[in-house]
Order: sequence, then C-alpha cells, then structure tokens
Amino acid sequence: MLKASNIFTLLKTSEELLTLHNIKEAKLDAEVLLCSILNIKRSKLFTMRSDTLTQIQLKQYQKYLERRSNREPLAYILGKTEFMGLEFNVNSNVLIPRQETELLVEEVNNQIKINNYKEILDMCTGSGCIAISVAYEKDVLVTAADISKEAIDIAVGNSRINKVSSKIEFLISNMFDNIKDKKFDIIISNPPYITREEFKTLEEELLFEPKNALVAEDDGLFFYNKIAEKSKEYLNNNGIIVLELNSNISQKIVELFEIYGFIKIKIIKDYANLDRVLVLKNG
Ligand code: GLN
Repeated sequence: MLKASNIFTLLKTSEELLTLHNIKEAKLDAEVLLCSILNIKRSKLFTMRSDTLTQIQLKQYQKYLERRSNREPLAYILGKTEFMGLEFNVNSNVLIPRQETELLVEEVNNQIKINNYKEILDMCTGSGCIAISVAYEKDVLVTAADISKEAIDIAVGNSRINKVSSKIEFLISNMFDNIKDKKFDIIISNPPYITREEFKTLEEELLFEPKNALVAEDDGLFFYNKIAEKSKEYLNNNGIIVLELNSNISQKIVELFEIYGFIKIKIIKDYANLDRVLVLKNG
C-alpha cells in the first residue's frame, strides 16, 4: 500500500516498486501515471514536489501502479497514446500505435504530395492511427477497414477527436470482403505479421494486445498474401502499395508481391536499421 507522502517521496517509492517488477522505464512510467491522475504536464511535476495527493488520487495511483507492475502497457492504463503528434484513444481491442509506423505515414504523405494521390485504402486500420494521421495532413479520401467491430468503434471515435471523420469511411470488413468495386491510389497496411514462433518470445506487455492484430499464420505471410492477391483489382494503374514489414521476413514479402506482378520501389529502414516499410508499384 502506498503511504501518504509528498510527491517527491511518492515518486521515489513508485519508481522502486516498478523497478522491482522489471519495468524498464520505471521512473518515466511512475511520473506519467501520476501526471495523468493530477491532470498536469510532466514539466509541472518538478514544481509540485512537496504537494500531497488526496485519498482518492492516492488510491487511483495505487491501482495504476499495480496494473503497470503486471506489465500492462502504459497506453492501455492511460486509455490513450500519441501518434504523429495526434491523440488516439486505445484499449485492448486495438494494437497500440508504434513509433515505427510513423515512418510509414511519412512515406505515404510524401507520395501523396509528389503524385497528387486522392483515394487511399488503409487495410487493418485498428485504432485508425494511419488513416487518421494521413487524413489530418492531406487532402484525401480514406477508406479504413478492419475485421473487428470493436476496433472500428475506437477508430471512428479517434477520427472525431481529430476532426477528420468527414474524410474517412470506416468499414467492418474481413480484408477486402466488404470493399466495394473501387480503385485506390494507395493501398496501405500494417497487417498482423508476427509468426507463431516469434509470438512465443515477445515481451509480456504485448500479451495485453489483441492476438489477432499481431499474429499471422503461414509464417507471418497470411495477410501479406491476401493483400498481394487482391491489390491488382483495387489499385489504380499508377497506384502504389505501402506496407509495414516484419523485418525478419522482408525478403519473402517482396518475393510474394513480385509473384503477383508488383515491383519494389524501395524499402525504408527503421531506427534500429531494420527493414520496416515496403513501397511497391504495379508492374
Ligand atoms: N493499423 C493499425 C496500426 O498500425 C493496426 C495494425 C494492426 O492491428 N495490425 O497500429
């Protein structure tokens, strides 16, 4: 049980508690959770070191720390996260947007600017982070699809928070099943791509995320395969496909798309120098 004390001491105790549970960023997490309860920016904490919490705040903080100690990701505890500088609500029905995926969005935004693309499809939209941040930056029309109704509910909410709901059509669809006869300039996807083997080695935090948003059969290729099969039907002649990659199977993914007649334009590496984004065009 946390003892009532000033914020300085409280943070020290909380950091120790989280460290004991092998939380890597214990200090940061203890601070971020406390800030969300106090509804303040982190920079303000420093000036409040000798303040105390109310009983209710203390109880809430205790709960948050317990959840984090159980390795629940910060974003689920807070119910939100940041992506491309925008706010996204998240819960355990959607994958938490990753920093690497921002590389994909930046590439998509560049391509829209260069080629004046208009019609975008975001397959496996999850929280809607890709569709929404592209619609926020660019004058485009986006179709965003996901198999999960719960995910689409979150994504619709996020499109409203970020004031782009008029630019996005959300669809519950098992891959292309409910996408009408329509051609797109860009087909985007960050599909589930973790292999069954890789899943066994993931850190505990990822086990809180929806397994069907992470894992793909056929050694990680299942959804790439679906996209490769269908994209010819849905892509304009001068259109492109932009995909997030499982870096361990990036070569196989490129080969798969080549079989279906697509040509690799480029692969973009992430901060860890791993293959992360693949751009393809019609052959
Ligand atoms: N498109 C979402 C994201 O990039 C969800 C991806 C997924 O569920 N596989 O975060």
